[in-house]
Amino acid sequence: DLADIGVTGLATMGRNLARNLARHGYAVAVHNRSHSRTQQLVREFGGEGTFVPSEDLAAFVASLKRPRRAIIMVKAGAGTDAVIDQLADLMEPGDMVVDGGNAHFEDTRRREAALRERGLHFVGTGISGGEEGALNGPSIMPGGSKESWEALGPILQDISAKVDGVPCAVHVGPDGAGHFVKMVHNGIEYSDMQLIAESYDLLRQALGASPAELAQVFREWNQGELNSYLIEITAEVLEQVDAETGKPFVDVVVDQAEQKGTGRWTVQSALDLGVPVTGIAEAVFARALSGHPEQRAAAASLEGPALSGTEGRELIEDVRQALYASKIVAYAQGFDQMAAASKEYGWDLELGAMATIWRGGCIIRAKFLDRIRAAYDANRELPTLLADPTFAGAVNLAQDSWRRVVTTAVRIGVPTPGFSSALAYYDGLRRDRLPASLVQGLRDYFGAHTYHRVDKEGAFHTDWSADRTEHPA
Ligand code: NDP
Repeated sequence: DLADIGVTGLATMGRNLARNLARHGYAVAVHNRSHSRTQQLVREFGGEGTFVPSEDLAAFVASLKRPRRAIIMVKAGAGTDAVIDQLADLMEPGDMVVDGGNAHFEDTRRREAALRERGLHFVGTGISGGEEGALNGPSIMPGGSKESWEALGPILQDISAKVDGVPCAVHVGPDGAGHFVKMVHNGIEYSDMQLIAESYDLLRQALGASPAELAQVFREWNQGELNSYLIEITAEVLEQVDAETGKPFVDVVVDQAEQKGTGRWTVQSALDLGVPVTGIAEAVFARALSGHPEQRAAAASLEGPALSGTEGRELIEDVRQALYASKIVAYAQGFDQMAAASKEYGWDLELGAMATIWRGGCIIRAKFLDRIRAAYDANRELPTLLADPTFAGAVNLAQDSWRRVVTTAVRIGVPTPGFSSALAYYDGLRRDRLPASLVQGLRDYFGAHTYHRVDKEGAFHTDWSADRTEHPA
């Protein structure tokens, strides 16, 4: 019998995705470059459903029902191109090649265009939730044609996470839209983690609190509006004790954060689109700073306050508020980036739907996303999440705490780039006049770049080197 769908690339993610499909009653064709992984999958989990193993790609493609649906779960990069090319050569018009790896959306756009020329559907799909999500229900963000969604959507919704019965999978938009949205998801994940890390660091230093005490704080926070997967696991990581030394786990781990690149991609794209995603950028840069031990050693003797245990317990609630407000800013920025990309690439993204599919399965899953959904339901053209009455109210309520937190951090010498830049963004956005007018004046002075006036149409230039009179440009 022919398989309903296939998975090639059976490492952690592919294997679990194949098992998820099989558990939902689909006959799954399975293939991996080195056949041993395929054999291992069938040996260990063959009882979970119907697997149709193949030793080579030709047999894999031949084992699929038409139109064929094949998911690629191989290491992102050159390997993906190689596998796509081989699959495309074996497939027929109308067949679907799904890339579930973490591809760059520009690569996905290129691949989609190339396969479309050959009559094939290429579906670049973001999949979030790691190993566990792939098996038990990830958040799935597919791009590609409407036709491909008609053929794949029901299966993807079936195996995705569900929240209140609603699947965390939706057709994101054409070509690279799915991988773009997955990229921004990861960028937001970076900023969420940075804000959590700053909260921990500041409270530990300012209160002289232990990681175990702070685990309890995060556990309490998880009962309220901050309720989310990342806050929940923060409590677990903070209370972990190293078996060998008896020290808190966080004190035996090297403090250099690594990255695989999706956060960096998010910021690079934001720079191209001209969208200030300062929350994500600060998170990427904070990881970069941590990863320079030679500079840190050289700077360790530089002077500054290093006050510990100076603050009262009321700082805890202030930090909670600062975390919430900064998180709202970071999400507002990430959603701005999706809106800008939607315009730039003609994707017609439905932003509220992105919040819906991130409610479950993925790393940034949180109660909070329901509020984002509601904000876009109330106004599809919302210029910024901060303009939504619910979020405006929440940030307003938090802002005294937020300002106290940033002030305290500055005074005792604890870096909080996430909190500080989010507050600067908030203050910048709400400002009625920005010093950008001076910047424009300087640009006109040295480069004759011209400027606009508040009271007249058109561009102007002042003759700075001569009599300083103004002329229409
Ligand atoms: P890896 O990224 O470790 O990739 C290993 C798999 O890729 C193996 O099946 C390997 O085959 C195959 N592969 C590598 N190069 C080639 C090639 N040139 N031709 C054919 N096959 C090749 O696996 P993961 O399961 O961790 O991730 C798969 C994809 O999912 C990646 O793109 C990753 O970015 C993405 N992803 C991963 C998440 C995670 O939590 N790990 C979360 C979300 C997405 P072989 O066994 O023969 O070496």
